[in-house]
Amino acid sequence: MKRKLLLISLCLLLCFSLIPLNHVSAKTLNDIYKEQSKLKQDREDNINRKNKTSSEINKTKTDITRSSNEIEQAQLGVITAEKEIEALNIKIKEKDLEIKELINFYQVSEGESEYLEYAFGARDFTDFIYRLAIVEQLSKYNDEKLKEMNNMIIQNEQKKVALRQKEKDLKIKREALAYQLKDLGTQLKELSDASLDINAEIKAVSDLIKAYEAMGCKKDDDISVCARTPLDTRFRRPITAGRVTSNYGPRDLLGRTYHYGIDLVASGGEGSPIYAAANGRVAATLPRQSCGGNMLFIHHYINNKHYTTGYFHLLTMNVKVGDIVTNSQVIGTKGGYSTATRYFPKTGYDRCTTGAHLHFSIAAGHYLGPPPSGFSGWGYWEANNINPRHFINFPAESGGYWSGR
Ligand SMILES: [Zn+2]
Repeated sequence: MKRKLLLISLCLLLCFSLIPLNHVSAKTLNDIYKEQSKLKQDREDNINRKNKTSSEINKTKTDITRSSNEIEQAQLGVITAEKEIEALNIKIKEKDLEIKELINFYQVSEGESEYLEYAFGARDFTDFIYRLAIVEQLSKYNDEKLKEMNNMIIQNEQKKVALRQKEKDLKIKREALAYQLKDLGTQLKELSDASLDINAEIKAVSDLIKAYEAMGCKKDDDISVCARTPLDTRFRRPITAGRVTSNYGPRDLLGRTYHYGIDLVASGGEGSPIYAAANGRVAATLPRQSCGGNMLFIHHYINNKHYTTGYFHLLTMNVKVGDIVTNSQVIGTKGGYSTATRYFPKTGYDRCTTGAHLHFSIAAGHYLGPPPSGFSGWGYWEANNINPRHFINFPAESGGYWSGR
């Protein structure tokens, strides 16, 4: 339930565009090692949760099969009871007939007793009485039998009602189990998606560690110093010509949803080139399978300050972790439908976009790729996000096109 609420709120936050996912400050290489360990722990947790969900799915399937069998048994029970009632009714009819015949005989015999006494004498009459007694007993026995059979019918009717109720209850139970199974299936799908993201993020962090190690960074070195982030003096627009479709900032009056970035649509459409907003060094490339699509992060050192730019929903990423990029370099292309058809053939776009656009963000400090679960650093990234308009001149939202960088 908690997870569902989290997902719903995430969807509300993200469904029209993308809010950058969790980032963690990385001051030394050791910080990145820690991040790597945390991601590996996340992967373990994910595997455990997947296993747990899978066994819950199997258990639910068994429960459903058991319920179906019980429903079948109840239905068979109803059929058996109905057959018994039918057979009893036939027997009752037969008995009725037998009784009527006996009564007839009894009445006829009684009515003609004087005649018989007269006609056949005492000896025959005794026999006759004896016969009458037997007839009476038989009649009594039949009455009892009839009562007994009627009671059996009542019992069978009651049994039928109970079995029908049982069948109804079992069907409700089975329906609930089917919902549960569906829910578990969704959970497993989400966990599987998340595991793909975790693996991509572990790779991204490992690539960054390798890149810093290759640059000669030691465990406790300040990476912004040892990585010698290229300098620049300002940020530029990441797209040559385009328009703004969604501003940085609150998306409703109460500020419950906040857009940590600016959405840009390039005039050239999908596949248009995306440029590095400033000279820098590539910090992470995340071929995400879920929200955000392909994500690229670049570290910058501008006027003695550290920044990270984020580029999301990319169709292609032309650079790799550790690469030095210049502000005139194409780092990737604008994604959208094609990105989506690759990863999300059914929905069109990745889960957090409704159309092809670049979600562009600038944050203070140097950040790593986003851990997928736990969201421990989400607030940190949000707290350090800055409205890109503070650095770059863009036209108003839906207010026309710019040309040039
Ligand atoms: Zn956006």
